[in-house]
Order: sequence, then structure tokens, then C-alpha cells
Amino acid sequence: MSFSTIATFENPIDAHLLRVELENAGFTVYIADENLIGVQPLFSNAIGGVKVQVPTEQKEDAILHINNLNEEQKKDTRCPQCESTKIQFNFKSSRSGKSLLSHFIALITFTHPLYVRRVNRCLDCNFEFSNKKA
Ligand SMILES: [Zn+2]
Repeated sequence: MSFSTIATFENPIDAHLLRVELENAGFTVYIADENLIGVQPLFSNAIGGVKVQVPTEQKEDAILHINNLNEEQKKDTRCPQCESTKIQFNFKSSRSGKSLLSHFIALITFTHPLYVRRVNRCLDCNFEFSNKKA
């Protein structure tokens, strides 16, 4: 059985969230390069991230399923400040203190930032808010 990569993530947790979603929908799912990145997160970009793979014959159906999930999420999401629906999802924010510290340490040690906060960002008022539903 040959597998095709349908999504990649910087960390194994996000990959497993998608795996659970796909398995609930009846797909066979394989996670590749999870352990290497778990042990050495700095390799994530070099080897292309944690890969979510499905059997090649299920590839198109799985991609359609993911697109439908994303559409449902986008329909329900509004900016808490201005009620706009123009939202940029999974934006890498550097506004939190932890992110700034991580970027600063990466800068002076010539490494990659270990912590990046992902948020949704309103494209109308630039307000950043959590990905998680309250
Ligand atoms: Zn807004």
C-alpha cells in the first residue's frame, strides 16, 4: 500500500489532531517523521515537518474532507472586536512576551525560534485572538 502526504505540521500535536479527525471520518491515517521532530524540533523545517499521510487511493477524498472542515471553521469565526469575517487563520504572532523572548534568544544564538504563538488575526482591525473555541 502506498501512502501520500496530504498535510504537514511543525509539531506532532497538530498532526495528531488532524489524524483523529480523519480516522473518525473512516480514513486510514499514517503519521511520518513524528519521532524525529519530537526529539529534535529544530529539524522540523529541514525535513518538511510532521507528515499526515493516507493511502494514495483515499488522497482526494481526504483532502476534500479537510477542506470542508476548514470551511466550517471559517464560517463560524468572527473577530471578537469588530465582528468582521475576514480572518487570517493560524497566523504566527510575535506579540506575546513568550514569542518575543523566543525570537530574541533565536536571534542571539543563531537558531530557530522554539516557540511561536499561532492565533487568528482580523484583517480589518489587526486584532489577534486565540484559535481555540471558548
Ligand atoms: Zn476585527
